[in-house]
Amino acid sequence: MKLDNSTTLFNKGQKNLVGAVNSPVRAFKSVGGVPVFIDHAKGSKIFDVDGNEYIDLVLSYGPMILGHRHKNVERSIKKALKKGYTFGASTNKEIKLAKMVCDAFPGMDKVRFVSSGTEAVLSAIRLARAYTGHNKIIKFSGCYHGHSDALLVAAGSGLATLSLPGSKGVPDDAVKNTLIAEYNNIESVTQHFDTHDDIAAVIIEPIAGNMGVIEPSQEFLQQLRALTLEKGILLIMDEVMTGFRSKFGGAQELLGVEADITCLGKVIGGGFPVGAYGARNEIMEMVAPLGDMYQAGTLSGNPIAMASGIATLKQLKKQKPYKSFHKKATKIKDMLLSSAEKYGVDLKVNHFGSMINPFFTSQEVTDFKSAQSSNTESFKVFFWQMMEHGVFLPPSQFEAWFLSSALDKKDMKKIENAIDFSMAKVAEKQKIK
Ligand SMILES: *Cc1c(COP(=O)(O)O)cnc(C)c1O
Repeated sequence: MKLDNSTTLFNKGQKNLVGAVNSPVRAFKSVGGVPVFIDHAKGSKIFDVDGNEYIDLVLSYGPMILGHRHKNVERSIKKALKKGYTFGASTNKEIKLAKMVCDAFPGMDKVRFVSSGTEAVLSAIRLARAYTGHNKIIKFSGCYHGHSDALLVAAGSGLATLSLPGSKGVPDDAVKNTLIAEYNNIESVTQHFDTHDDIAAVIIEPIAGNMGVIEPSQEFLQQLRALTLEKGILLIMDEVMTGFRSKFGGAQELLGVEADITCLGKVIGGGFPVGAYGARNEIMEMVAPLGDMYQAGTLSGNPIAMASGIATLKQLKKQKPYKSFHKKATKIKDMLLSSAEKYGVDLKVNHFGSMINPFFTSQEVTDFKSAQSSNTESFKVFFWQMMEHGVFLPPSQFEAWFLSSALDKKDMKKIENAIDFSMAKVAEKQKIK
């Protein structure tokens, strides 16, 4: 596989960028080798600077759900560009996107737009504290909620693969109000309820996607909802990854559980920086200028980003790709499992809607601990073989693969062939060891 130009850029980039990247997972540290530098993308495909073509199952870690440069989205962005880039004053576009988002999430009367998922979540936590007057929050080990101090504890993929214990530079004081519970384990939550009386909120990914894809059991989520209601503790659903991914709206509706505060990002910007948090009126009225919880942003509700988000959601509404996502993900799951069986490789595959994740392990994966039983060496081999065979995957065992609605039959066939070749190589390498 030719990666000469990527190698040159990777070396050149080291001088003025940190590790030549602007987000650590892009450095390919957990799979080794040179990270690919991208030249352009279109539809279901992405092209690197050496002219290699890949079917894109990264999709910028979720946002590009329609595939790249959908013509309607591009048209809207171009139209918005001609009117100016940012004004520091409101536009009709913000009202439009807000209505689309609130219509899609039954629990949301009002929404506030910000510029990233991290910002959405840290604001939602502040809001929960403002509303309840309590300080403590419970998060689940393996769930990632952005890189704000209080949430950078036991935080999944990026940190999991590198086995970093949280992060340097986060003072103990910043995490002393963060309690950790285990996913799919309600006792680990009630233990905290029994020992602390100043809990503001429980935050959860309704489908975990940052320790690999993990579904909560129906019982677990329902108990979590019932118990938080009973105790007057807010339930925050971080749908930054799952929002508009598995249905038009949130995973919480599919799972039959409604959050008090919902966080969004990724898909709602259609490739531009947009995050959002929203809740019923009573809660959102705490936020400035209506209330005393301060939160602001120079580029929040940016008109180009809003145009991209509106056009993306409109197209999703029109395409209704969710059934087809489920079918395609099931197909890829079957391909993975049957080739693993054929070559004698231990593999479990989790999927939800258009998110899918093979784990190189013989254990069922239901929480962070079981996800950690995966053989990351086998993933490494698999990853590079998939790349060689033209499929761009997230460079970590613990990142979800995403499907776009631009994937066609030919792409699916190519994915199938790539899986077969790659699994054979994994088996070969496992035998040598
Ligand atoms: C990606 C992600 C975030 C952080 O969003 P950024 O836009 O990267 O800041 C937060 N929560 C979840 C569940 C995510 O998947």
